[in-house]
Amino acid sequence: MRSTSKMIVQRAFIIVFLFSLASITIFYKTLLGTETKNTTGFLVTLDRLMEGNARFVNGKMQHPDGSVERRVAISTAQHPVAVVLSCSDSRVPPELVFDQGLGDLFVIRTAGNLVDSIEIASIEYAVEHLGVNLVIVLGHEKCGVIKAFLKNEPQENHIKKLMDDVAKEPEIQSALKEKGDTTDNCVRANIRHITKSLRNSGPILMEKKQAGELNIVGARYDLATGRVEMIE
Ligand SMILES: [Zn+2]
Repeated sequence: MRSTSKMIVQRAFIIVFLFSLASITIFYKTLLGTETKNTTGFLVTLDRLMEGNARFVNGKMQHPDGSVERRVAISTAQHPVAVVLSCSDSRVPPELVFDQGLGDLFVIRTAGNLVDSIEIASIEYAVEHLGVNLVIVLGHEKCGVIKAFLKNEPQENHIKKLMDDVAKEPEIQSALKEKGDTTDNCVRANIRHITKSLRNSGPILMEKKQAGELNIVGARYDLATGRVEMIE
């Protein structure tokens, strides 16, 4: 009797062990599958853009995809490799900063790279219908929106909304208490906030991000060196 009970316990232990092993294998396969899907397209695109930025920084731009042939080739359909949400500042043009050409980037530009429903809808379109898997939020040093916010002067007309939106960002409120360069701390805080907002924007961006089909990163552009630095 005792030996029968012992056998039952042993079998139960073996079944539990095998079940756990199978679960762990499925878990890792799922994880690796997601990682592979995630990293393949995303890292290749990010590498391509950062290589373009290195050429821009060193004054060795190739101005790719700017030929007449390229213009004709993409006249029937667009397949941009990334969305870039950048500040409207005339010194931060994404195609030049990343040394890209016609049809390469799906660009959205607003003052302070702030987003509202129209901008989010534009990003959703690129992700959902054009198959883009990388979104870069590109802020920059000495951003006029941040500087105007810090001056805290009364604003009229629609510019007030820019200041109000920046003031509402929790990251900005934290940055105001940090030591160091307040303007740059707030520039970085704003980039982090917008990046986080897009990652949590349901349903499309959030679901694609959770499925490993979309990456949303934050970057800061240095006006003098031209260098793009990933910060988020
Ligand atoms: Zn700006």
